[in-house]
Order: sequence, then C-alpha cells, then structure tokens
Amino acid sequence: MSRLLVVVVIFIAIYLLLKYYRKQLPKKDVPGEDTSRRSENMVRCAHCGVHLPKGESIVVDQKNYCSEVHRRAHTDEPA
Ligand SMILES: [Zn+2]
Repeated sequence: MSRLLVVVVIFIAIYLLLKYYRKQLPKKDVPGEDTSRRSENMVRCAHCGVHLPKGESIVVDQKNYCSEVHRRAHTDEPA
C-alpha cells in the first residue's frame, strides 16, 4: 500500500515537473522559434503587398490577400 503511494507521489512529481518545464520553455524558446515559424508562413497580399500570416490571408486562385476588400479590389480589377 505504501509502495503504491510512493508511485503515485512520483507520478505527481513528474507531472508537476513537466508542467513547470512546459511553462518555462515557451518564455525562453518561443521568441526565436516563433519568428522563424511566422516568417515561414508569411504570405504577401497580391493587391497591396503587405505581409501577413498565411492563416489570416484569403487565398483565391493561389494568390493571397490581406482582406476581403483587397481580394475583391484585385479580382474585380478591369483587365
Ligand atoms: Zn492588401
């Protein structure tokens, strides 16, 4: 019974340790990692040329737009 208690305590300790390290790591590593990841996923608006995260862009015909307004302005442009 006491052995089970020790195992449980060890598991809780490992859990808390992982939780603690997970909290610590982002603060230290994310800035560099985040910018590299962000620049990887950056796309350019086909209309105004502004750079924005791919997830926030509107993709139409393999072209990226920063907003619905620019998507419309670009595609409705008289040829
Ligand atoms: Zn734009």
